[in-house]
Amino acid sequence: MNWITRIKKIGENIKRNIQKKFPTKKEQAESNWISCCSGPVLKSEIFNDEQLNTCPKCLKHYPFNPIERFNHFFGKNNYQIINTPSPPDDMLDFPGYKEKLARGRKLTGHHCAVVVAKGTIEGIDIVSFAIDSRFNGGSINSAAGEAIVSAYQKAIDDSAAVVAWCEGGGQAMQESAISLHFMVKTVLAANTFKKNSGMPLINVYTNKCYGGITASFAGPSIADITLAEPSLVGFAGQAIVKNQTRENLPEGFQSSSTLLEKGMCDGVYHRKEINDKIKSVIKLLLNKNTEVNSLKYDQTSEVNNQTREAS
Ligand SMILES: [Zn+2]
Repeated sequence: MNWITRIKKIGENIKRNIQKKFPTKKEQAESNWISCCSGPVLKSEIFNDEQLNTCPKCLKHYPFNPIERFNHFFGKNNYQIINTPSPPDDMLDFPGYKEKLARGRKLTGHHCAVVVAKGTIEGIDIVSFAIDSRFNGGSINSAAGEAIVSAYQKAIDDSAAVVAWCEGGGQAMQESAISLHFMVKTVLAANTFKKNSGMPLINVYTNKCYGGITASFAGPSIADITLAEPSLVGFAGQAIVKNQTRENLPEGFQSSSTLLEKGMCDGVYHRKEINDKIKSVIKLLLNKNTEVNSLKYDQTSEVNNQTREAS
């Protein structure tokens, strides 16, 4: 055995020992424990109907998949999933993409990262879409883009409000310019909805929202009101920014609370509170809220009655 082989063997041993110390992704998924603020925490303390996938101690918000989200927002069995278009897969024949799509579909049960649902809350029809980050990092490919466009179309057709739960890494690089063009198409769809429906559009940042998603339909100026759960929102991820600038990032960099401070969103709320906030905002925008508005309603109906009587 020469010295090169010996060093190679020592290197492999070190690598094997390091790997042994850290659990694999599979082991982490199968474990009953998760590492959070105070060290190991039982998953059952975080992932339950009361805590809604948030840590009771540090309030960290873990991902909420679209079905968990709609169950919580509309109530279980109180909404319907809307079928969305299925454009051809892998038009550019990108290596490994077909397998990635297959894995995402098997894991989530959906054909793309965006799931659209419709329900009624306190008499107001609402179309909602949510992004599943488990599906190719929540990236927007042509199917996901078409799903978003069809959500806005459904809302226009049904005179419904729109609530969009925005997260994910951006546009799907495997579809190159095809997915990039959905940055334009989704913004046009949002604007068409706003121009034609007169119904509220609420965007909510959740989990981690980056890239083309933040730069298009989830942009702070797109919706009537933009809210957030404790989340990270930006264009490029923190590691990329740090590597590029070679500087330490300021405290709270890309956090939703910084967004609020800088005027890029209108409110940050715990997952336990955010549904009520959204409902209040929608009712307020539709003039269906507060005692002031009910007084205004009474006055309006009085005026209408007088007008009718006069005519
Ligand atoms: Zn914690």
